[in-house]
Amino acid sequence: MPDILSTDKLTNTTCPYCGVGCGVTVRQQDAQLLPVAGDVAHPANIGRLCVKGSALHETLGAKRRLLYPEFVHPEKGGQRVSWDAALDTIAEKLRATVAQHGPDSAALYLSGQLLTEDYYVANKLFKGFVGTANVDTNSRLCMSSAVAAQVRAFGEDAVPACYEDVEIADLVILIGSNSAWAHPVLHQRLLKAKRERPQMKLVVIDPRRTESCDQADLHLPIAPGGDAFLFSGLLSYLANENMVDRDYVEKHTNGFEAAIAVARQSAPDLHSTADLCGLDVAAVALFFSWFAETDRTVTLFSQGINQSSSGTDKGNAIINCHLATGRVGKPGASPFSITGQPNAMGGREVGGLANMLAVHRGFDDTSIAEVGQFWNAPNMARAPGLKAVPLFEAIERGDVKFLWILATNPLVSLPEADRWRRALEKCETVIVSDCVRDTDTTQLAHILLPAVGWGEKDGTVTNSERCISRQRAFLPAAGEARADWWALAEIGKRLGFESAFGFRNARDVFVEYAALSGINRDSPLQFDISGLATLNDEHYETMAPLQWPVRTDAPNDDSQRLFGDGQFSTPDRRARFIAVTPEWPRESPHSAGSAETPFFLNTGRVRDHWHTMTRTAESERLNRHRAEPYVEIHPDDARADRVANGDIVELKNRHGSVLLRARIEEGQRRGSLFVPMH
Ligand code: SF4
Repeated sequence: MPDILSTDKLTNTTCPYCGVGCGVTVRQQDAQLLPVAGDVAHPANIGRLCVKGSALHETLGAKRRLLYPEFVHPEKGGQRVSWDAALDTIAEKLRATVAQHGPDSAALYLSGQLLTEDYYVANKLFKGFVGTANVDTNSRLCMSSAVAAQVRAFGEDAVPACYEDVEIADLVILIGSNSAWAHPVLHQRLLKAKRERPQMKLVVIDPRRTESCDQADLHLPIAPGGDAFLFSGLLSYLANENMVDRDYVEKHTNGFEAAIAVARQSAPDLHSTADLCGLDVAAVALFFSWFAETDRTVTLFSQGINQSSSGTDKGNAIINCHLATGRVGKPGASPFSITGQPNAMGGREVGGLANMLAVHRGFDDTSIAEVGQFWNAPNMARAPGLKAVPLFEAIERGDVKFLWILATNPLVSLPEADRWRRALEKCETVIVSDCVRDTDTTQLAHILLPAVGWGEKDGTVTNSERCISRQRAFLPAAGEARADWWALAEIGKRLGFESAFGFRNARDVFVEYAALSGINRDSPLQFDISGLATLNDEHYETMAPLQWPVRTDAPNDDSQRLFGDGQFSTPDRRARFIAVTPEWPRESPHSAGSAETPFFLNTGRVRDHWHTMTRTAESERLNRHRAEPYVEIHPDDARADRVANGDIVELKNRHGSVLLRARIEEGQRRGSLFVPMH
């Protein structure tokens, strides 16, 4: 009798979508892939998956894949070439561009979809060996405001909280976050905790009534962009009502007096705050009193805060209120920035942003010397490079002539995409590494490199609570697809740096990166995973999810929360209040031209799709939830503009126009529209 179990194969890996970072168990039987399940041993989800995660097996396959390296001719189209031919050409073009125009004429544009190992090799290659810090990422678009806010307040891009805090808090505030749809499993954990402890309060601050409001105790339909006014008003209220933790402020922070003075100028009291934010005074009073009285308060913020012309200040306005009450990094009490993408945090750890060098170090002389020495790097970048939008502006001007885009589709995801399309058309060398053959961006590439996709990739990602998890391969690579870190390392070797890029596998990359983080050992910085630098192949293969820091001297003992002892990553170990002067969005009906643009436009995720849909559109089931692009309009606005439910409407502003199906929704705020980002 055949042994059925002998053909069973179980692989534990990590979901490639949102920043919750759920563990996924993949089961193959007789070489057949069975529906995926949540990994019950993974601390992020403990067996749960949302609908996107549970449909992962439906999105795999060779359809639409980029299978071979290609040289792309503008008229003749793609021509299959060997990896050697593609890599030799890329190395030669990079060498020639840098020789003729200097290192800053070359750039990488990366993605929160990359694994940490990919990010590490990209960062090392360009910042240590090519000699430019022009290494930025699509994570800039979603996370850089939160990063900057945390660096300003805590001295480091470090999230103090963990998911358990959302469950044990007595008050959870969601602001700029429709977590029911954007981070569903974390939202499920929150709702389960609320069912078990009905006294737990949930406040949702959002211009529209989203699915996250369904179980909320209070919804504040704030005027779009009013967030910093609201939290400045809250800071004023805490001071006015003597609810500031003076002892904590005195012992562990700087800058309180300046912050409170500025808050009082912009939002001095309850009435003015409610008025500015377009909210009912009684509702704001209730929210403020709950915040003041509830020690265990978590404020969870996401892209509605970050993606703003003043997103960093909004983040600091929130953190200021937590510092004023001493609620940072304590059980059930913390500000909590939730990442959008699966590895936005891993990329930041290695230094995959133009204004960071590596392992949370900047471009000070000491950091450049220490990182340069570790890498034995001959061409260390000495100053920050171009961030995402300035990078594309530099391409437009012709200053950047060599661009390598990995795992992202900026001609859909960047603001002003039409402008950047024209810029890329002029760029001398555009290389795109992707697992999908035809995207808006691959159409403009001169060289295409096939990348392994989810299920084929091997490496690590870091989720919103600093938990490092393995993504493991369970399928053979499609066609000639290879890991991105491998392609980058091959360029390093072809530039003459054989030993610096002689990685055998993802584990070799990971342990080098872990060892590099040990340079933070004697600094106030929290990021240190040097306790993982001695993993061998087997340890790396079986590595269980774990939160950083993982120090050599105290492996993982104190990693669940950060800064709970009031010791921060600043030179004097004190947190910094930031004096925030709230601003309205730079482009809005408040600004000039409001007669032509009478509406605010908000964007966001829908439940069943992911970003530009190159993966989720493969699943028939996921396509059923929202089958076409749409715009949500309040019934009064629809009536005034004679729009009926289901009509096709045109939205336009100075950046462009779009045709969308109208959905008339009571939950939409008057004067605001909502359009899914996908
Ligand atoms: Fe994947 Fe996020 Fe859903 Fe978890 S919540 S299964 S990480 S999309």
